[in-house]
Amino acid sequence: MNDDQLLRYSRHILLPEIGVEGQQAFVDARVLVVGAGGLGSPAAMYLAAAGVGTLVLVDDDDVDLTNLQRQILHTAEAVGQPKVLSGQATLRRLNPEVQVVPLARRLSGEALLEEVAAADVVLDCSDNFETRHAINRACHIHRKPLVSGAAIRFDGQLYVFDLRGDESPCYHCLFPEGEDVEQVRCAVMGVFAPITGIIGAAQAAEALKLLAGIGTSLAGRVLLLDGLNMEWRGIGLSKDPACAVCGQSAG
Ligand SMILES: [Zn+2]
Repeated sequence: MNDDQLLRYSRHILLPEIGVEGQQAFVDARVLVVGAGGLGSPAAMYLAAAGVGTLVLVDDDDVDLTNLQRQILHTAEAVGQPKVLSGQATLRRLNPEVQVVPLARRLSGEALLEEVAAADVVLDCSDNFETRHAINRACHIHRKPLVSGAAIRFDGQLYVFDLRGDESPCYHCLFPEGEDVEQVRCAVMGVFAPITGIIGAAQAAEALKLLAGIGTSLAGRVLLLDGLNMEWRGIGLSKDPACAVCGQSAG
């Protein structure tokens, strides 16, 4: 790191748990953020401000007026623009040191596998089950830690699946596909703006901890936020031995 970087990141470097070594790990890191909406906005902004070297931002949507109530990566001037380009512009203003790779499409198949393989940590900030399951599969195949968030109405959820180890449950263990879970999307449902901020920022915190290898990650637990009463609940998660993605008989 140069003198400017040492200064810019001095409040991290002052933390004994992070120091120069941890900050260097952030600078060297490549993080995949799927979704540049309510969760992806604060997550990407904190990761960029914190100095993560390369941020791959994925979203196939354009900025809409209804997004601005919570998707703080985007401004009124950006309405109509692809979210990833609007996001890239905001992140560049925040920290020109960070390289932002904008991908204005829905990642799937080989392209998703390649991006996951290239990433150190993956953040699922998406809003649909199909994408969530695809990301989970790719992270399991490439053994990448997955930090997953969700926000709807006044409720939030935060998960870390550290798929580097065999013992970790995965997203599919909790939400098996084919059970026709009702698709609840904030595209049509209400969402209290700061809930996305709280959960997205927590996703960034967990991602940075994983990159620096510090503290205890949320892996193995889920954190549920009832924002209307401001109550957090932590619940232990266990691996489903019959899981079609990470179980013993999974191909
Ligand atoms: Zn599983």
